[in-house]
Amino acid sequence: MAPGRHLKGGIAPPQKTIAIIPAGGAGRRMAAGQAKQYIRLRGRPILAHTLQAFEDSRLIDEIILVVPETDVPRVRRNIVDAFDFKKVTAVIPGGRERQDSVRNGLGSVGDDCRVVVVHDGVRPFPSFGLIRRVVEEARRGRAAVAGVLASDTVKRADPDGIVLETLDRQELWLIQTPQAFPVAMLKEAYRRACDENYYGTDDASLVERAGYPVVIIPGDSRNIKITTREDLALAEHIPAPVRRRSGRS
Ligand code: C5P
Repeated sequence: MAPGRHLKGGIAPPQKTIAIIPAGGAGRRMAAGQAKQYIRLRGRPILAHTLQAFEDSRLIDEIILVVPETDVPRVRRNIVDAFDFKKVTAVIPGGRERQDSVRNGLGSVGDDCRVVVVHDGVRPFPSFGLIRRVVEEARRGRAAVAGVLASDTVKRADPDGIVLETLDRQELWLIQTPQAFPVAMLKEAYRRACDENYYGTDDASLVERAGYPVVIIPGDSRNIKITTREDLALAEHIPAPVRRRSGRS
């Protein structure tokens, strides 16, 4: 059944999979004179690459884009309209921290939504397969995050840099986005975090804190987050992920 279509004689169950793309940061670490989501990568703003992945994925029904408040009209015009992203249904103002921006995005999610997938605006190369795997888990009722196993040795140290312990890297995952959740679970986790003034470094940490299991889906080292100039230089050389459309993507 098409998303939002009503069952005969009853209320339609929520069907939609909605992507929230937080791109509300100022990108100060890049020191590029503009927020990093607008910097050009292979001739297009980084954010346009990210949006294209979700626009082209058949699993995604809508995209809610969150940007700095002062950028809303410009992003609508220069990115959403200019690149003809038809799935972007809302461009809304972000907040002080990334978590505030995602919370604002969640506020625009309608009752017809079943699954929310959150993905950083500055992570331009998620593959269709990765989006599909996290969304499928969330459709089965479980929170799912992309991650890669640590390949370097990881040590814990005190503030003076004195090593306290060497951790077992077989158990250590570097977590990325996309992260997908049944919508009620994510909303409850955000409500609790807000009530307790808790800030985490990703969305899943709020869900974990609310007592739900989270499964890691092996991600992709090409799915980098562009934070520094070095990341940008690296991204220029990363082959674009194969985004062959299949019936399920
Ligand atoms: O700062 P960081 O690289 O962790 O940001 C990850 C994503 O969160 C970026 O796409 C950034 O634009 C977004 N963000 C946001 N609102 C903020 C801060 C960051 O949407 N206040």
